[in-house]
Amino acid sequence: MIPSLLPTYNRAPLSFVSGEGSWLTEADGRRFLDLGAGIAVNALGHANPALVGALTEQAGKLWHLSNLYQIPQQQALAEKLVEETFADTVFFTNSGTEACELAVKMARKYWYEKGQPERVEIITFEGSFHGRSAAGIAAAGSEKMTKGFGPILGGFTHLPWGDHDALRAAVSENTAAILIEPVQGEGGIRPLPDQCLKGLRDLCDETGALLILDEVQCGVGRTGKLFAHEWSGIEPDIMMVAKGIGGGFPLGAVLAREEAASGMVAGTHGSTYGGNPLACAVGLKVMEIVSDPAFLAEVNARAGGLRQKLEGLVAAHPDVFEGVRGAGLMLGLKCKVAPIDVVKAGYEAGVLSVPAADNVVRLLPALNITESDISEAVARLDKAASAVSEGLKA
Ligand SMILES: *Cc1c(COP(=O)(O)O)cnc(C)c1O
Repeated sequence: MIPSLLPTYNRAPLSFVSGEGSWLTEADGRRFLDLGAGIAVNALGHANPALVGALTEQAGKLWHLSNLYQIPQQQALAEKLVEETFADTVFFTNSGTEACELAVKMARKYWYEKGQPERVEIITFEGSFHGRSAAGIAAAGSEKMTKGFGPILGGFTHLPWGDHDALRAAVSENTAAILIEPVQGEGGIRPLPDQCLKGLRDLCDETGALLILDEVQCGVGRTGKLFAHEWSGIEPDIMMVAKGIGGGFPLGAVLAREEAASGMVAGTHGSTYGGNPLACAVGLKVMEIVSDPAFLAEVNARAGGLRQKLEGLVAAHPDVFEGVRGAGLMLGLKCKVAPIDVVKAGYEAGVLSVPAADNVVRLLPALNITESDISEAVARLDKAASAVSEGLKA
């Protein structure tokens, strides 16, 4: 018999009842250090007092309005994002994949309005993840995500990761945009080298193609800059944001330069919930905290400490781990064993991590995780790795 919850997830047998900072408490009282943060969503930890305050204050006033009316919280968050980034304009969604839908529509509409309606092709990359909507799965293109779901949205060209010749050959007069994650998340914490991101920017400038960055996972302070592309010094034309920006409240956004957004006039797109007062009140508080250079400096300091400890962990367990990769507090442990075995051993040791593709265990802690929580988390990962090692010998 089918479970009452549609069985699309492989859930761990853990039921958390409360959280505080980087800690979660299970129904049976066990406490876990959370290095997954709801897959990079709880950017400021659980039950962050500033976010609880922003949410509850707004909750006492007004929850939902509809975009039929002015929404001051939405306006304020858009202005903050415009002030802090390359963008001239922002549209709010409720999720990352909705941001993907709009990014694709925006790029195609741009060329349509330019009198080049044939220019619809969007170049994407192997191992990418852009969510589970029709455009999201078509953009990623893997059989795992698309098989069985009928006709796939057309107009996507999928290229191997890091194949410069294939990229040059694929860009044509029909290329509307190139869509890429500056650091692949689901694909196994694969950072795109700064040089490659610069090269993509140059290629887009030469050909007119729009550069769309998916910073749903790597954005909002995760890599130690407000947005990951800032490390390379380039700017995209369109950027997808979600996950961390809501700090745990569902919120996504598409940020764009004026020119790239020029086709999206009144009536061309919409969302009932997108940009509702609750989400935007929380998002604004998240942005105020994370965009502070002092906060980002702290993220970098903590990231350096965590990375160093993880290098030690890898060296201590050469039978389990192959190496550490990633950027800032978006780190991956490349495994020699099945990553799910490390994740499960972590459950026993009281530490949460997230499996990814390419044999990687993802560590995406809250951006404000404390030094002592980092030390304790790595000690627990060490215990988990020892248990996996023992299992290999048995
Ligand atoms: C999670 C994710 C998405 C999809 O976001 P949802 O909110 O789950 O729709 C898209 N792109 C990237 C890079 C992601 O990590």
